[in-house]
Amino acid sequence: MIQITDHLARLRARVERALESAGRSGDDVTIVAVSKLHSAVAIREAYGAGQRHFGESYAQEAAPKQQALAGCPITWHFIGGIQANKTRLIAERFDWVHSLDRLRVAERLSEQRPESKPPLPVLIQVNSAREPQKAGVSLAEVERLATSVIQLPGLALRGLMTIPPAGSPDIHRARHFSAIHELGMRLAAQGMPIDTFSMGMTDDFELAIACGSNCIRIGTAIFGPRKARPASN
Ligand SMILES: *Cc1c(COP(=O)(O)O)cnc(C)c1O
Repeated sequence: MIQITDHLARLRARVERALESAGRSGDDVTIVAVSKLHSAVAIREAYGAGQRHFGESYAQEAAPKQQALAGCPITWHFIGGIQANKTRLIAERFDWVHSLDRLRVAERLSEQRPESKPPLPVLIQVNSAREPQKAGVSLAEVERLATSVIQLPGLALRGLMTIPPAGSPDIHRARHFSAIHELGMRLAAQGMPIDTFSMGMTDDFELAIACGSNCIRIGTAIFGPRKARPASN
């Protein structure tokens, strides 16, 4: 239990150092604690240590945990793959979506976003390495999807997200992170509402911060290793 608190303190210190090395001291980096396959008890522990942003990959798995923590002012981020027929829970229960990658899903999230809530902030997932097993649009497709998304009343476009190829050397990852950051800054300069770059996980968040990330998604470094996902889920 003390471990999670301790992990968070170390993580925050590493983020500060990474910002300093990047010449970005004073910039804010949102740490999204990725609690998929971890319990509500673990989330509560992190919450007790001041953590407010949590990320989940499976809406069904997240629902009971969100229920258990209903009294806590937590910002819930949806970071997993989205099937078009499973958008409702996400539109109703989450405060951010990092993994938007097609218009059909965007339209459904917009329609299903409750009117009592603000438009759902969304990030477009970019698969800059064009890995077939991974979600996300290519760099070339980002602008077109962004142009459609900004017209949907239930959504608020905020930026881009990526997961670079696993196990690739730092220099390759840095190229992916930087390309996405540059594209986002270019679109922002054209007037697109883009200010959030969700890049970096346990293994590469320092590199991502060096390449302009201001939102990192961290599971293992906070909660330790995950159990395997049950096959039925
Ligand atoms: C699981 C997951 C993470 C967290 O990964 P760690 O390596 O445990 O930090 C981040 N982003 C996404 C999209 C994930 O699915």
